[in-house]
Amino acid sequence: MTATVGVLALQGDHEAHARSVRALGFAARAVKAPEHLEGVSALLLPGGESSTMLKLIEAEGLREPLRAFCASGQPVLGTCAGAILLARDVSSPAQASLDALDIDVERNAYGRQLESFVTRIDDGEPGFEDLEAVFIRAPAIRRVGESVSVLARHDGQPVLVRAGNVWAATFHPELSSDPRLVRSVLAPLTP
Ligand code: GLN
Repeated sequence: MTATVGVLALQGDHEAHARSVRALGFAARAVKAPEHLEGVSALLLPGGESSTMLKLIEAEGLREPLRAFCASGQPVLGTCAGAILLARDVSSPAQASLDALDIDVERNAYGRQLESFVTRIDDGEPGFEDLEAVFIRAPAIRRVGESVSVLARHDGQPVLVRAGNVWAATFHPELSSDPRLVRSVLAPLTP
């Protein structure tokens, strides 16, 4: 049976994530309420506006179910706003989070001129070299916990990190045509 990948679909560019999941041969399911996580084998948290997503997560009673999913060992990837949701501590401005990954992030950390840009990552681990990266009002990862591996940096800043099953990218793999990152995150599953 085709594995189903849940995509948090409260706000943001969840459709783009769903398309990239389907392009890899998986089924995609929009997650808007706790019951939508049933039978899901991996979870993607998209880019968008993290403060809005957070309000909707609380309103839908999704906070604890999402935290439980992150603790379950199944693959999770947060991109941009999704990475902010996963972080332990969030600044600029401060807000609550799921605290599912031991990193601290600063929101909207790139100056106005560099608010949005597309680049090739300049320092990636094998498998992530030259990754195409779309940054849109991206956060910066300001602290990485001991359990967290940095898989790619750009301009010296961590932009892709992982602790076990939980991955976070400050850019948007779903908005580029490079499938490597999502394929790697979903590698434990068979389509
Ligand atoms: N600046 C947004 C936030 O803080 C994130 C931007 C994005 O996901 N492209 O939520």
